Amino acid sequence: MRRHMAELHVDPHGALYARRARGLQASEIRALFAVAARPDVISLAGGLPFVQALPEEDVLSVVRGVLEGRTGTALQYGGGPGHPALRGRLAELMAAEGVHADPEAIVVTNGAQQALDLIGKILIDPGDEIVVEAPAYVGALSAFAAYEPRFLTVPLDEEGMMVDALRDLLVGGARPKFVYTVPDFHNPAGVTMSLRRRRELVALCREAGILIVEDDPYAMLRFEGSPLPRLRALDPGSVVYLGSLSKIFSPGVRIGWALAPPGLQQRLVLAKEAADLCSSSFTQLVAEGWLADGRWREHLASLVAIYRARRDAMLEALEAHLAELATWTRPEGGFYVWVSVPGHLDTSALLPAAIDRRVAYVPGAAFYPDGRGRDRMRLSFCYPSEGSIREGVRRLGELLADEEALYRSMSGGPTDPGS
Ligand code: PMP
Repeated sequence: MRRHMAELHVDPHGALYARRARGLQASEIRALFAVAARPDVISLAGGLPFVQALPEEDVLSVVRGVLEGRTGTALQYGGGPGHPALRGRLAELMAAEGVHADPEAIVVTNGAQQALDLIGKILIDPGDEIVVEAPAYVGALSAFAAYEPRFLTVPLDEEGMMVDALRDLLVGGARPKFVYTVPDFHNPAGVTMSLRRRRELVALCREAGILIVEDDPYAMLRFEGSPLPRLRALDPGSVVYLGSLSKIFSPGVRIGWALAPPGLQQRLVLAKEAADLCSSSFTQLVAEGWLADGRWREHLASLVAIYRARRDAMLEALEAHLAELATWTRPEGGFYVWVSVPGHLDTSALLPAAIDRRVAYVPGAAFYPDGRGRDRMRLSFCYPSEGSIREGVRRLGELLADEEALYRSMSGGPTDPGS
């Protein structure tokens, strides 16, 4: 971080940058990738999908099928809203999840991440209020921050966004342009919004004339329990739905999509064309080919089984090594467990010590627009093996126990946590 500051200091073009670019900071997660990628470090930090589980032969046969006889399309520019065949498949996929979509209403994007950026571009003027959950997906915070909003935050609990707190904000005079939420298997909190809260949220936002941005990359990675209706299914008129193939197929193909009310959909297409003309025709056709063959559902089921076993390994290890030191959420799907440590510990400050002990996590502060969250951390169970997860959590438990003992000895309290 210090080197980064020094570089900025001597940057001969520093004075030329637009205000929004001056505010850009390397996310804590990005800065971590380099260290956490060291083979001796067990990374519970990044949320990398376990793409190694995809059957290589099936992927290759889809890619071959795209290139054989179709290079004229696959290697050419395509239309701004996306390839019609892929939009048809995405409409089918959503229909199976209870969300009605006309293929014409879908805008294909370079991952859901691009949709977040385009939404910021279309909806946020500097100083506009927007609502995010606290904590919130760090990539959405960075995408929106570039457009200089005023972030209002609404806390989460085990039932997801606390809609009463949103109501209080509105009653208090807040006039946000939109509310951004990840209702299913939240990143980073791991929680899922209850049906009651979903109904309350859409009713409240409809009444107040506020858009909801529903970011939904994880819902199909459910390990147990019954799926809940998407917000978009409850109120198509005020919900912008964002989907992604990154977690259920591959982040490398960079395919996401947006399903928005008609006026916003047209602006999304125009903004998308201005940003990059179109998404890659090649990877759109690969994605279409993947979804065309019903076997993708079997592959998805095996991914879910792998992630479930890893989630279980993480929860067991937390119980074994952190029970005295922390509390955590119990996700029914997705990639993440959100851990709360005692308030006197600072997970940002502790990270170098964790890396010395060869384990990495994402400090909680990364997920708040206002520096809160220093007593939280996000642990991902998606990528490391079950054995590595157990060992990583054990190392973390040792670190926290040592820090806690140090704190107690310095503050004159009892040193035996059992006493
Ligand atoms: N939203 C959330 C909640 C995410 O966790 C991610 C990826 N980590 C994204 C959006 C971006 O995904 P994509 O690969 O589709 O751009």
